[in-house]
Amino acid sequence: MNLALKSPEPRAGILDIAAYVPGREHAPGVAKVHKLSSNETPLGASPRAIEAFQQAAFNLERYPDGQAHDLKDAIAAVHGLNPANILCGNGSDELLGLLCHTYLGPGDEGIVTEHGFLVYKIQITAAGGTAVTVGERDARVDVDAILAAVTERTKIVFIANPANPTGTYIPVDEVRRLHAGLPAGVLLVLDAAYAEYVRRNDYEAGIELVSSNFNVVMTRTFSKVYGLAGLRIGWMYAPRQVVEAVDRVRGPFNLNAPAIAAGAAAIRDQAFLAAAVDHNLAWLARVSEALTAIGLRITPSVTNFVLIHFPEAGGRSAEEADTFLTSRGFILRAVSAYGFPNALRMTIGPEEANEGVVAALTEFMGRK
Ligand SMILES: *Cc1c(COP(=O)(O)O)cnc(C)c1O
Repeated sequence: MNLALKSPEPRAGILDIAAYVPGREHAPGVAKVHKLSSNETPLGASPRAIEAFQQAAFNLERYPDGQAHDLKDAIAAVHGLNPANILCGNGSDELLGLLCHTYLGPGDEGIVTEHGFLVYKIQITAAGGTAVTVGERDARVDVDAILAAVTERTKIVFIANPANPTGTYIPVDEVRRLHAGLPAGVLLVLDAAYAEYVRRNDYEAGIELVSSNFNVVMTRTFSKVYGLAGLRIGWMYAPRQVVEAVDRVRGPFNLNAPAIAAGAAAIRDQAFLAAAVDHNLAWLARVSEALTAIGLRITPSVTNFVLIHFPEAGGRSAEEADTFLTSRGFILRAVSAYGFPNALRMTIGPEEANEGVVAALTEFMGRK
C-alpha cells in the first residue's frame, strides 16, 4: 500500500452531511442591500451591550470566565431561574451539537421534523447517530408523527417552537402531550430561538416543562431579538444532570469574554427588547397583510420572519422572485433545503426594507 497517497478518512456518515448554507448577504451590483435572510433584528444590539463589548476590549489578554457566571446570573435573574440549571454556548447551534455528542452515538436515532432546522440533522449525523425525519401537518410540528417514530434506539427529539422556516408554533398542551408520550430516557429538546416574539396565550417556551422533568431541555439564543448574532451566544435551561454531563463535553472557554459581557448587558436591557418585539409585531402584521393582498400565500407566523409561497405557474416562481428581489437589493432566504422549493423566507426588517419588498413583489406579481 502506498501510504503517502492515502489521506485520513472521516468517520462513517460525516461525508454524507450536507453542510449548512447560511443566508446570502450580497447582491452584486446593487448599491443598497437589505439582508433579510438570517432573521437578524433590524434594531441592532442594545447600546448597553455595545458599551459592555467595548469595555471588554481592554482585557483581551485574559481567559474568559469558563463558567460565564455573569451571563448565567443575568439570564437567571431575568427569567427567574436557578443559574445552576443554565449552560451557555457559542450560539445555541453549539449547544444543539453538544447535546447530540453527549446523548447520541452510532446505532442511536434522533427525531427531527420535515421542515425542521437543518442543524439538528447535521449534529445528529455528526455524532454518529441516524436522523429520522417525520412529516409535519400544515407546516406545523405533528406530535402524533413524532410519537409514532419513537423506537428503542431513539435518544433525542428536536423541535423548534416556534419553528424556522415556517414561523408556526404548537401550543403548550401539544408540547406536554409530546413529552408525555416519550419514554423517560429520550431527551426532548425545545429550541425556543424565537420565543420572545410570540404573543399567544397558549404558547410557552418550555421553562415549566424543564423544571418539572428530567428529560427536557430548552435552548435560547441572543442571535435574534437581542441583535448579537455576530458574537455567538446561546444558552440552555436544563436539568442538573444534563448540565453536568454537557459541561464535560464542551470546550472549557466556549464563550469569549466580550460575548459574556455583552450578553449579560443585553438581557438586562429589557426595554430595548420590548422595542424590538413591538417593531416586529407591527411590521409582521403589515407585511403579512400586504403580501396576502397581492395574491401571495403566506404561512401565518408568530416570529420575526414570514414564509412566502409563490405561484406554481406563470413565471412567478420563488426562484424568479428571488432573482427579481436580489436585483433590487432585497436578499431573502431560499428554503428548498427545508422542503419548500417554491417559497422564500423574509425576515421582518426596518420600515424601508419591509415597504421595499412589498412594493417589489407587487410589481413582480403584476408583471406580464
Ligand atoms: C437562528 C436559530 C437558532 C440560533 O442559532 P445561534 O447559534 O444561537 O445563532 C437556533 N435555532 C433556530 C431554529 C434558529 O432559527
